[in-house]
Amino acid sequence: MTKITQNNIDTLKACRYCPMCRQSCPSEFISYRESDAPRGRAILLHSVYLGGKEFDSSAIQAIYNCFLCGACKSWCSGQELGGYDIPELIKFARRDIVSHGLAPQSVQEIRNSLVENDNTRNLDSKLSCTALVVEKTADVLYILGEGVNYTNPEIAEAFIRILGHQQIQYTLLKDEPTSGKELDLLGYRKEAQEKAKNMAGRIKAAGCKTIVVSDPLVYDALKNDYPAWGLKLESEILHVSEYLLSLIRSGKLKLKPTQMKVTLADSEFLGRNNGIYEAPREVVRASAGENFAEMQWHHEYLQSAGEAAFTFDGSAFKRGEELGRKISIKAEDINAEVIVALSATAKNNIAATTGLRVMDIVEFAANLMV
Ligand code: SF4
Ligand code: SF4
Repeated sequence: MTKITQNNIDTLKACRYCPMCRQSCPSEFISYRESDAPRGRAILLHSVYLGGKEFDSSAIQAIYNCFLCGACKSWCSGQELGGYDIPELIKFARRDIVSHGLAPQSVQEIRNSLVENDNTRNLDSKLSCTALVVEKTADVLYILGEGVNYTNPEIAEAFIRILGHQQIQYTLLKDEPTSGKELDLLGYRKEAQEKAKNMAGRIKAAGCKTIVVSDPLVYDALKNDYPAWGLKLESEILHVSEYLLSLIRSGKLKLKPTQMKVTLADSEFLGRNNGIYEAPREVVRASAGENFAEMQWHHEYLQSAGEAAFTFDGSAFKRGEELGRKISIKAEDINAEVIVALSATAKNNIAATTGLRVMDIVEFAANLMV
């Protein structure tokens, strides 16, 4: 097996004996299996990296059942000791599994689809929102991400409506490529870096001053992975919530007051990886004011909507509604009427489980702009 770093060894040793974050883990919530809890994964990986055992299929499945949501890290009782980082450990183990040719079939299928089709589900790029784009010179480049590009065009339409209303020149990338993020999360770093290089080249060629991103995974890639891989982008990179807030603060975008009670479903990749918690709240409060209310679990204690849930128990992940229901129950508990989401995945997984109105933050702003 590949040599393991000291930080990952520290995590293995600490987490192997510790159950203190298990209540936060969405994969254990779904499967009811100890091997899908943070501690269970640490025990399995301890046996491989410090116990001399080989990976077997059940250990590999447990590693790929992790959603890399970071809840265990947020809840870690060892934070005062520097914190233990299970998501980093899982990503390391996945790269190791891939390098030994042991990735499960379902993971290989997603990898092949990303490499060949630039999406996780073998979808024809002709069906995407960006299939007919004619690229142009503009200040703003809007990057959608796979969910918005293929399944939730209404989110892109809402953002484009706002840009049009503000008379802001923008462009999109024709046949928007993958950022490489999903490949890296699945353990395929070499392929991820090739895709990242391609995306960075397309972004540079567009020559825009500001990149505005809907998808939290793509945002995380551009902000954190690309610089770490030596891919420097000169443009400012903003999540749509940050961009909307800048328009609101400058007085250019005004929202009508809403009397509905509104709550926000935080995003794991925006929040836990990038500290973006307040920008979307300020956008919502610009309309909802005192009608904005927090659910029980928010900010770093948010509940995962499955932004990085790709496979589970050896098949493509299809249990997003079980994660979405956990969130909609909390919204119903506070009598919210609207749930604002920050990714296509969150919107879809939550909306499938409730009669409440669920909308992306750009739809919220577009519906209320004056
Ligand atoms: S990252 Fe999320 S799914 Fe993975 S072990 Fe931690 S809490 Fe569980
Ligand atoms: S991440 Fe922290 S709380 Fe969770 S098992 Fe490891 S040491 Fe315990």
